[in-house]
Amino acid sequence: MKKPMTKKDLDYFKNKLQKEKTLLEEELKTVGHKNPDVAGGWEASPGKIDTDSADDNEVADKIEGLEENNGILEKLDKQLLEVIAALDRMEKGSYGICAICAEPIENERLEANPSAKTCLKHMRG
Ligand SMILES: [Zn+2]
Repeated sequence: MKKPMTKKDLDYFKNKLQKEKTLLEEELKTVGHKNPDVAGGWEASPGKIDTDSADDNEVADKIEGLEENNGILEKLDKQLLEVIAALDRMEKGSYGICAICAEPIENERLEANPSAKTCLKHMRG
């Protein structure tokens, strides 16, 4: 059996994950807002156009803006959920273990993606 992660390793990756989480939340705020009623907790904000004075063109732009924000938000939200899941695994003591072979995940793999769930061999699985 390979040696498990040291407390120092865990602290290091926890720090990285928390920084990533803060960053993702900052980015989410630029395209959406928190809404506890939707899955993931984030909802895309419409474009910046004032609805009261909007003509048809502006309404179309607004819808386009919302769709664009939605796409960005979905990506960010997915990343955020992965980071949260990784932090959760840390709490449960299963962080850094491959979900497929149950071997420790390579440090270089976690360095590149701290929320990785699988080792290098199984990263596509
Ligand atoms: Zn594996």
